[in-house]
Amino acid sequence: MVTIKARPSDLSAVAERLMDDDEVRQVFFLSSGRLMLVCTFNGTHLVNDFAVRLGNIPEIVEYDIANVIGVGKEEDRASVVPGLQVVMPCQQCGRQVRGHPLRVREGSEDIYLCSPACMNVYLGAPNR
Ligand SMILES: [Zn+2]
Repeated sequence: MVTIKARPSDLSAVAERLMDDDEVRQVFFLSSGRLMLVCTFNGTHLVNDFAVRLGNIPEIVEYDIANVIGVGKEEDRASVVPGLQVVMPCQQCGRQVRGHPLRVREGSEDIYLCSPACMNVYLGAPNR
């Protein structure tokens, strides 16, 4: 894990310089005005090389490199709670669809509707 501190106006430029790096796997912009990089190094000398490269970026005010020595928990960031449904508006009446929406394939996109009534109106609409 690498955290980098730079002036807020320099952060994206610093990120740009690091994003092409194969060892940099993820780049996060933090609200604290820092960058957090998740990097994978296949050897200590590569960490040292990376530190040298960071040292050569003048916009970096300070940085911290720490190895992950243990993993307490690692899951995908997007979480889907069982029983939770994505709320979407009916594309005919605009009301939020509760339960399972009715779906109409329209070219390459799916149209979601709340009820058979809306489906009838949608399918019968002259301007579709
Ligand atoms: Zn509807």
